[in-house]
Amino acid sequence: MTYNANKTQFKRNPETICGSYGISSVVSAVFHDISVKASEVLENTKFSSFIKNSEYPDYMNESLTERLNPSTKFPASCSIVIAAVPFRILPEINMAKIRLRDEKATLPGGKIAGYALKLDYHRYAKSIFKEFMTEIKEASGMNFSFECFSDTKAISEKVMAQVAGTGIRGLNSCLRVPGEGSGCFIVSAICDRIIPEFKVESSLEVPDCGRCGACLKKCPNNVLSESHKFKYSKCISALTMEFRGYIELEQRNLMRGSIFGCDICTAACLDSKLPASKEIDLEWLLFSPSKEIENAFRESPASYAGITILRRNALAALEYAGTEQTFELVRKLKNSTGSEILIRTAEDILKTSD
Ligand code: SF4
Ligand code: SF4
Repeated sequence: MTYNANKTQFKRNPETICGSYGISSVVSAVFHDISVKASEVLENTKFSSFIKNSEYPDYMNESLTERLNPSTKFPASCSIVIAAVPFRILPEINMAKIRLRDEKATLPGGKIAGYALKLDYHRYAKSIFKEFMTEIKEASGMNFSFECFSDTKAISEKVMAQVAGTGIRGLNSCLRVPGEGSGCFIVSAICDRIIPEFKVESSLEVPDCGRCGACLKKCPNNVLSESHKFKYSKCISALTMEFRGYIELEQRNLMRGSIFGCDICTAACLDSKLPASKEIDLEWLLFSPSKEIENAFRESPASYAGITILRRNALAALEYAGTEQTFELVRKLKNSTGSEILIRTAEDILKTSD
C-alpha cells in the first residue's frame, strides 16, 4: 500500500486504518472538484444518450439529471471519501440454510453469483465504512458529520471513483482496482466539511483497463461494447433482479439458467479475485416453505429480488434445461402455487414446450 497526504494533518496514518478494514483503495477529495470532473466525463462519454436509448429502469431515467450533475446533490464546501472494498472480504451468509445442487443430481441447478452468497454489501459496506470514517475523523482531529452509502444514491459512483483516483472503469463497466481487478464494490462518505485530502492505494501498477476484450468475448449475451454502451435489457444480472413480474420467453432464455446475478464479465479480468458462483438446488427453492427460503436469503443481496422473482427465475432455469424431468417440475409448481406470476410463467413454459 502507498499513502499520499500531508501527514501532519492526521494523528494516525489513514493507511493503517485502511489495512484493518480490508479496504483496497481510498481517496478523500473536495466534492466540488470531483463532481465537476465527473460531469465532464459523463458528458464526453455521452452517458445520458446511453441511458435514454437503453431500457434502463425508471428510477435511473428519473434521476438522470442528478446522475449527470453530481454537484447538484451536495453543497460545494464538503468532502467525499470514496473507497473500493473487495467482495472477497465479505463474510458468508449462513450457508447451512442454503441447499446447493448435489453434484451427482440429474436435475440442473440455478446459477447464483458468488457475491450473493456473502452478506449484502449495501448494508455491510455502510456499517464498516462508518467505523472506518469514525477512525479517520478521530485521526484528523476535526469535528465533522458524514453520511455513508453504497449503490443507494443517484450518483454515478463508478465515474466519481475513477475521477477521484480510486480505480479505473473497465470495459465491463466496473471499477478496476490495483491487485483486485473488477472484484470490488464502491462505498462512499459525504462529509459536511472539507477534510484533509489523502489517498491510500495498492503499490501494484495502476490497472488501466488493458482493453484485452476478455469481458466482451465472455459475456454470453453480447451486452458490452468498446464504446461502453451497455445493452441493459440483455444483461443476466439486470434480468434476474431488476425485471420484475412476468417476463417473455426471449428474456427467460437470456437468463441462461441463472437465478440471481452474473459475474462472468467481472471475473474475466485476469486479476479479479471474486467469490465463485454456485448452483442452487431448484427443487428446494421452488417447493420449500416460503419462510424457509426467505430466511435462507435474508442477509444476501438476493433478498432484493424477493422470493417470487427467485422462483420465476428458477422456472426459467428449468425451461432453459428443457428436459422431461424439468418440465415435470414446472407442471408440479403450476399446480401448487398461488402466485399469478408463477402460474403465468409456468403455463407459458408448458405451452411452448408442447
Ligand atoms: S476483461 Fe480486459 S477489457 Fe474487460 S475490463 Fe477487464 S481488463 Fe478491461
Ligand atoms: S453481468 Fe453477465 S450478462 Fe451482464 S454484461 Fe456482464 S457477463 Fe454480460
